Amino acid sequence: MESCIFCRIIKREAPGKVVYEDESVVAVEDIHPQAPVHLLLIPRKHLPALADATPEDEALLGHLLKVAAQLARERGLESRGYRTVINNGAWAGQSVLHLHVHLLGGRVFHWPPG
Ligand code: 5GP
Ligand code: ZN
Repeated sequence: MESCIFCRIIKREAPGKVVYEDESVVAVEDIHPQAPVHLLLIPRKHLPALADATPEDEALLGHLLKVAAQLARERGLESRGYRTVINNGAWAGQSVLHLHVHLLGGRVFHWPPG
């Protein structure tokens, strides 16, 4: 996806502060952080949203959450808690149509979300 900003960051064609990467996932600092820690876990595979995931993507989806938990632990977020978010579609506020998990931590989060 040549026009996708996350694909371009993954391919190092656009700037991005990469904090973790493996064979299937890249994690970057969010450009407009909403918390002291705000990372985006982006699969290398371009899936526009959760609805586009197929049974063959099940391991990838699980891996995204495992990496989120690992990065949260490494950043000292585990004891107090943190939030993982996947926005899907217009009403949820999804603005980049490449599936990603937000990892947010370092402050209190309220419920229900806004
Ligand atoms: P969404 O609203 O789609 O769930 O989240 C998209 C996120 O990507 C937003 O939090 C936004 O700040 C972030 N974002 C948008 N463009 C860029 C960019 O070019 N670089 C980085 N690092 N984050 C971006
Ligand atoms: Zn993409």
